Amino acid sequence: MEENNSNIQEPRKLNFLEEIIEADLAEGKVDSVMTRFPPEPNGYLHLGHAKSICINFGLAQKYGGKTNLRFDDTNPTKEDTEYVDSIKEDIKWLGFDWENEFYASDYFDQLYDWAEQMIKEGLAYVDDQTQEEISKGRGSVDKPGVESPYRNRSVEENLQLFRDMKAGKYADGEKVLRAKIDMAHPNMMFRDPLLYRIKHANHHRTGDKWCIYPMYDYTHGQCDSIEHITHSICTLEFDVHRPLYDWFIKTLRIYPSHQYEFARLNLTYTLMSKRKLLELVQKNYVSGWDDPRMPTLCGVRRRGYPAAALRMFCEKIGVSKRDQLMDIQLLEWCVRQELNAKSNRYMVVQDPIKVTLTNWEPGKVEWFDCPLNPAEPEGATRKVPFTGELLIDRADFMEDAPKKFFRLKPDGEVRLKYTYIIKCNEVIKDAEGNVVELKCTYDPSTHPVTGEWRSVKGTIHWVSTEHAKPIELRNYDRLFTEADMNSIPADRDYKEFLNPESLVVSTAYAEPALIEDKSGIAVQFERTGYYIIDKDSTAEKVVFNKTTSLKDSYRPE
Ligand code: ATP
Ligand code: MG
Repeated sequence: MEENNSNIQEPRKLNFLEEIIEADLAEGKVDSVMTRFPPEPNGYLHLGHAKSICINFGLAQKYGGKTNLRFDDTNPTKEDTEYVDSIKEDIKWLGFDWENEFYASDYFDQLYDWAEQMIKEGLAYVDDQTQEEISKGRGSVDKPGVESPYRNRSVEENLQLFRDMKAGKYADGEKVLRAKIDMAHPNMMFRDPLLYRIKHANHHRTGDKWCIYPMYDYTHGQCDSIEHITHSICTLEFDVHRPLYDWFIKTLRIYPSHQYEFARLNLTYTLMSKRKLLELVQKNYVSGWDDPRMPTLCGVRRRGYPAAALRMFCEKIGVSKRDQLMDIQLLEWCVRQELNAKSNRYMVVQDPIKVTLTNWEPGKVEWFDCPLNPAEPEGATRKVPFTGELLIDRADFMEDAPKKFFRLKPDGEVRLKYTYIIKCNEVIKDAEGNVVELKCTYDPSTHPVTGEWRSVKGTIHWVSTEHAKPIELRNYDRLFTEADMNSIPADRDYKEFLNPESLVVSTAYAEPALIEDKSGIAVQFERTGYYIIDKDSTAEKVVFNKTTSLKDSYRPE
């Protein structure tokens, strides 16, 4: 008898995190999914964070769970409320909403109590060694560390010293609190890790309440545990920290959160280290965190990348356990997909040549009703004025044109988009031989609505000189000239690879309706690319940022 295969389900494609979560739910290890996104408020979010946000919020959404936003603010000297505010704005813009807004600093009291508990259980001690002595004493992978001379202080002494640290009796660096684990442990992380350091610094939330601050390893897992995070998802470099994460949770006998690691996002022609991005801002290599060349979320937003395109990109790159260098062209492809469907169209001439229609009635203006988006022919329109003196793009005219050149050439015909077919009768040049004007005639019988249909091979965009609005274009290109910025030799400075042509400013001439556009997203300059109005625009000078070119040979696999 033949087997009936119709009930056999196609194996569903889950990423490794979804597999873990589905197994945990199926086995009843967790009742519901709780994730968190834990940025340190020491810079603006970048495209790498977008991946982490999409994973953390996306998994919770998929499995009916929740996501907390937790600011990892244990380093008062680098952190600022400016960053907190921008991070919240960026997450919302990306389209996600958190269940709770928490701060690691909310838990400083609890973390302190746990530290006293560890001291009382003989699991922590105050060390007077200098930072250098401590790191020297750690040993190396194949050499065990040596125990600190202060390691065997009594519980009472440790408790007193730790309380004195908290009370501000000591200067920065004078003492630290360390866990008492094993100085010969094969995992270096376990060689008496630091729990607290002294830092007399004002904290953006707790002010001057504390002068001791907990270390990352002592903080992160406990914060996850307090919030009952079920799946604490972070990037691969934290896998060596995981055993210590588990150790603190076990030692303190608290809710067992678990950590899982995925590969960071790296993108060609850019870099995503907050430290380096901060340097570009501080040394004025870019105009700010939101410079449209920056890989920050506020940068790409100002550049005109829609949030939906970023989410599409994160979906496409998936979640992997191996480091990946993604092609920035895939992101640009997603941007085009999204904008192609939604953007309003306008005509803009970037490098003009004058076209005079010798048979046009002087002074006459004809207004054409043109679709804002050709994908919706019944949709909204804009009114475009047509006159006897027009501008076309220099690239759309060629004097000695090859056979296959279907745009304008001497004695040739072309359709001016949405309007008439014109013919070029005469080419006027200046003393240097540059083309300055084309004398043409239009064919009134080719009116797109009332005329007869006649086809020509080429259609070009244009604007009426009298109505043209000059605008400033900021044409952006790659920020760096090197595709893999992580592989530049250690003796070279990454700033040597900044692309000197990453910003080229020019003037262009737009049809008047462009200035009235209220769509709030990037628009398409017909036949050239996507552009978005910039916040630097004034009544006198309207500025557009180039989002991306219209076409590219790139196709996603
Ligand atoms: P940087 O090294 O640029 O300072 P970070 O990892 O220290 O970045 P955090 O603010 O601590 O920045 O990051 C918040 C979360 O975003 C962390 O869980 C981190 O793992 C994740 N993340 C940071 N960079 C990337 C990236 N390039 N790809 C994916 N996730 C990232
Ligand atoms: Mg970090």
